[in-house]
Amino acid sequence: MKLFKCTVCGYIHEGNEAPNVCPKCGAPKDKFVELTQEETDKVYKSDRTNDIHMEIANLCMRIAALSEEGIKLNLDPACVAAFEKAKNESWIIKQRAKAEIAGHMSKGKW
Ligand SMILES: [Zn+2]
Repeated sequence: MKLFKCTVCGYIHEGNEAPNVCPKCGAPKDKFVELTQEETDKVYKSDRTNDIHMEIANLCMRIAALSEEGIKLNLDPACVAAFEKAKNESWIIKQRAKAEIAGHMSKGKW
């Protein structure tokens, strides 16, 4: 399958030819360029890994919410400390995943 990139907004279309109108920004067909094989490979290789990073970021938001609940229950100091640590660690994991996705985006891997 060929990939075509909108030069106005960056939207990537998959198909035998560029779409008549960009589904994101409405630019006409002549604003699309066909990606090279190397660029196409990058997009396909990063497609699943970006999804995994996003899923990890979402799981971290769940960990943070659960940790908040545990902190509020305030069973004992060690328990609260464990939840605070989990909350802080979930932030680090989430931000690391987001930074990796941002790095992929800036290198055309999306
Ligand atoms: Zn566009």
